[in-house]
Amino acid sequence: MSVGSDITTVPGRSTTTASTAPVGSGARPAVGGSGAGARGGGSGGGSSGSGAGTSASAANPVATHATGGPGDLAQDLLRPQPAPKDILELIFQSDAAPDTRAVDHVRNTLASVSGKSVSTPRVAINGGAQNWTAGQLRQLADDATAQKQGGGQAVIHLLYLHGTYGGDTSVLGITVRADVVAVFQDQVVNSESPVASAATIEDAVTMHEVGHVLGLVDLVLHTGRADPDHPGHSRNKGSVMYWAIDSDLFSQVLSGPPPVDFDNADLADLAAIRRS
Ligand SMILES: [Zn+2]
Repeated sequence: MSVGSDITTVPGRSTTTASTAPVGSGARPAVGGSGAGARGGGSGGGSSGSGAGTSASAANPVATHATGGPGDLAQDLLRPQPAPKDILELIFQSDAAPDTRAVDHVRNTLASVSGKSVSTPRVAINGGAQNWTAGQLRQLADDATAQKQGGGQAVIHLLYLHGTYGGDTSVLGITVRADVVAVFQDQVVNSESPVASAATIEDAVTMHEVGHVLGLVDLVLHTGRADPDHPGHSRNKGSVMYWAIDSDLFSQVLSGPPPVDFDNADLADLAAIRRS
């Protein structure tokens, strides 16, 4: 799934928005949906920062990387230094809290691929359904967070919200910055079927978006194995990084429930990024 996409370029370049990419067609970027490797621009980052931003960057590379696009924080999350701890910060609206099983699965997977301890602090927020823009999602993460990026830790902000990504009900999840993921819980529930429970879909979507944050597929490495029609995604229907996972199209493309795990090629890439 994913279709969606907002494509924002890396700070310093012009920001374009994007187009929604019809799933299936190759589009771009935002990784989140299935779009692809979208580069989420940092909110406010980049050139607008002026001198202060520059010195902050030098002092806190993790914070600087976090303002980039999907994959830009991958090395900080996977390597032992400069962030010995990883944080999955769960930011959720009322009645949109993440499923405990999905959270445990993602936490255990991140701990396994990084070799680090991973905590999952929770932040309840107000507000209800709306058609979210990528910029609003980034701002929400920055306003709601209780975590500092850097200072020995790397943080992924996971937003669990009501509403849609830009009015597109097919988008279940999206990655809009190196450290910001959104899961649209109403759409997850609407995608439930006899073969895929909402909890399983939520698990798959969350893992998929975290995979983008970790640089999959080929957002960091250049292995050539990404699906050319769906940049940022796997061609393997058995991988959670398969392109249809972040959209409600998975039910049309897969015969069973969505995969919830990285495949061996994904794991090999994560290990290579960790070593790099
Ligand atoms: Zn995707």
